[in-house]
Amino acid sequence: MTHPFLDLAPLSAAHFAAIEDRVARLLGTEQDVVIMQGEALLPLEGAIRSAAGPGTVALNVITGPYGQTFGNWLRDCGAEVIDLAVPFHTAVTAEQIREAFAERPEIDFVSLVHAEAATGNTNPVAEIGEVVRAHGALFYLDAVASIGAEPVLPDAWGVDLCVIGAQKAMGGPAGVSAVSVSARAWARMSANPGAPRRSYLSLLDWKERWVDAGRKTLLHAPAQLEMLALEACVERIESEGLDAVMRRHAVAAAATRAGAVALGGGLAPYVHDASEAAPVATTLRTPPGVVASDLVARALFSDPALPLAAGGGALAKEMIRVNHYGVDATVGAVQGSLAALGAALAELGVAVDPEGARAAVESAWR
Ligand SMILES: *Cc1c(COP(=O)(O)O)cnc(C)c1O
Repeated sequence: MTHPFLDLAPLSAAHFAAIEDRVARLLGTEQDVVIMQGEALLPLEGAIRSAAGPGTVALNVITGPYGQTFGNWLRDCGAEVIDLAVPFHTAVTAEQIREAFAERPEIDFVSLVHAEAATGNTNPVAEIGEVVRAHGALFYLDAVASIGAEPVLPDAWGVDLCVIGAQKAMGGPAGVSAVSVSARAWARMSANPGAPRRSYLSLLDWKERWVDAGRKTLLHAPAQLEMLALEACVERIESEGLDAVMRRHAVAAAATRAGAVALGGGLAPYVHDASEAAPVATTLRTPPGVVASDLVARALFSDPALPLAAGGGALAKEMIRVNHYGVDATVGAVQGSLAALGAALAELGVAVDPEGARAAVESAWR
């Protein structure tokens, strides 16, 4: 008896290349797109180790936990790292990037996270890209949490290394990811003696043995199930329409924000300015005296399928994440999440207005 997951025909090189082309279309890019056979951390780390080394002066923007990780990789590669940290309740501005270049004109690499699912903010990449391009630095962007939820335009924004994963707003698998690579980025890697080669982290291996060789022979057996899932998820986005998918996420974020404010009880949007709040996920600050991880545990007790989580690390005390992405970018998931949070707050003796929250979500959705 054949099994639907186990007894598949091998994934051909031509099929693999066709999936890459489809992902490139989603990004609207003419750059080379390499699909990496692992979770997004693989191209995120591989791209930094390929492009940076001793002699690199990197401006590393920290708007959440991923920025911290990138700084550590950059230092590990021997780069000089200038960390630009902004409070998690806000976004970085193009002006702050401009000031950093004015202070250190030798900056030749900028790393930035577009949207942070972990902190709920999103950064103005188009404006920042203009500044980075004016100074000729290489621009590295983590768009894992923004792709599918808001526009990601590597070519228009001058992004040299744009990393995406399918597991957030794309509603796809976590086991494969992709990076678009500009000609400038390839040149930087080729000139970097420390760039990984004959390594799972290597992008140059994919350039030399796959892209430049006409995409005829894969480097190793591909992650077949994940590749098929990636293809199915891009197909589903194409049939709904990327704009419609992004709109669903934007509305979910606006509705969650409005609903939380109407619910009251001291629950407040964590990101102060709505224009800096990510469409992929909405973070909320708990009222004084209420521990976020306890509140989330109570809320999930009533419905474990709700897309709720407490913030990571120290944020677990004060931050709730409503992960309204992918299949959860729906009015039902938002209503359910706020109703469960409202009930959990009421259990703790906090006065809330669940009916007001419901009406606010309903009206935001219209
Ligand atoms: C989710 C996410 C990733 C991928 O990391 P996981 O924790 O494995 O999901 C990378 N970067 C950002 C900004 C993300 O939000």
